[in-house]
Amino acid sequence: MRSMELHDQYGLTPVINARGTFTPLGVSRSTEEVAAAAAAALSGFFVMEELKDLADRTIVQVTGAEAGTVVHCTSAAITLSVAASMTGAAPSRIAALPHTEGMPGTVLLPAGHAVDYGHPIVQDIRLTGATPVLLGSDAGCSLGELEDGLARPDVACLLMVSSRLTRGDDLPIAEATELAHRHGVPVIVDGAAQDFRIKELLATGADLVAVSGQKYLGSPTAGLVIGRADLVRAVRAQEKGIGRAMKPSKEAIVGVVAALKARQEMDRPAWEQEQYDKAARFAEAAGRLPGISTTVVADPTGLPFPRARLDVDSATAGLTAAALAEALASGSPPIWVMSEAKEKGELTLELVPLTDRELEVILRRLAELVGDRDAPRAPRGGRGGRRG
Ligand SMILES: *Cc1c(COP(=O)(O)O)cnc(C)c1O
Repeated sequence: MRSMELHDQYGLTPVINARGTFTPLGVSRSTEEVAAAAAAALSGFFVMEELKDLADRTIVQVTGAEAGTVVHCTSAAITLSVAASMTGAAPSRIAALPHTEGMPGTVLLPAGHAVDYGHPIVQDIRLTGATPVLLGSDAGCSLGELEDGLARPDVACLLMVSSRLTRGDDLPIAEATELAHRHGVPVIVDGAAQDFRIKELLATGADLVAVSGQKYLGSPTAGLVIGRADLVRAVRAQEKGIGRAMKPSKEAIVGVVAALKARQEMDRPAWEQEQYDKAARFAEAAGRLPGISTTVVADPTGLPFPRARLDVDSATAGLTAAALAEALASGSPPIWVMSEAKEKGELTLELVPLTDRELEVILRRLAELVGDRDAPRAPRGGRGGRRG
């Protein structure tokens, strides 16, 4: 069954998602191979430990890391990685959480890394029973401020985030990790949307790297925990404790394995060229509309694809960037774009998962909204426009 049939059957709003791997919109599209692998898993029984061993071997083979495992999502991966740094593999400690007596109960993170990706990341820490301690300020965290934090007696780990959501001057992960290791403190990196950069993040020396399966990797919802073998074992052991509520499904593990194999076999230069051409083609067409100028922009974290940025001149376009984003999202089908910088007149579109047909729909709607008289009229009406 294709996803459009589900929309028809249940009266669901079809969405054009140019907003990136956005959780409220279903995050990503799996390929047919990954979807078929996950679907096949649903109708069978498995020894779950065998599936986890398979995920471990596949992650090791694809990333070169010592070990890896799959949990429910990256949020779960963060919580369980923090828990692992507190309990090790000790069953009594694992059973005790979120009571932390006798364990290191402080988790350090640079203040600018206390991100909100739909909920505050510090809550992932608190779920274990640990206390997050923010270092520095939103403007940045210096190595000196990190050193002061590391001098505390009860530090379980240092958590850092690799994301375009972080604030302030970047504290380089490799330098922070080296300092943490000198104090005997392990480092966990939340690289949820950074599955293309796993090797780079591991090369910083971080002990565990957490990435989402369902973002660019395109698997069912899953979190991958990758890194030091003893800590990965301790993450797996949490399933007898707080990890019970964060376990991976069989279809997610099988889907992750299929997606990792596809990633390994992908022709990366050809794919990157395709993404660049797609963004350039879209930007060129959108840039011809009145009041809109466009730029192809690189991802600030180093993901290997660009986005199309629209700069809206409201005097010529007849509406502001904010009004344009609002109008796109309330049309039919709703079109979602990245609008964090709308007050500066900027909207950004991520085009990676979109079909040529969807790009045409976006261009036509943009033309209608900025009053381009030469544009063909898109048919209006039908379902949609509902937002919750
Ligand atoms: C998406 C995201 C998460 C959460 O990932 P899930 O797999 O949805 O739990 C955590 N951190 C960052 C920076 C994210 O972008």
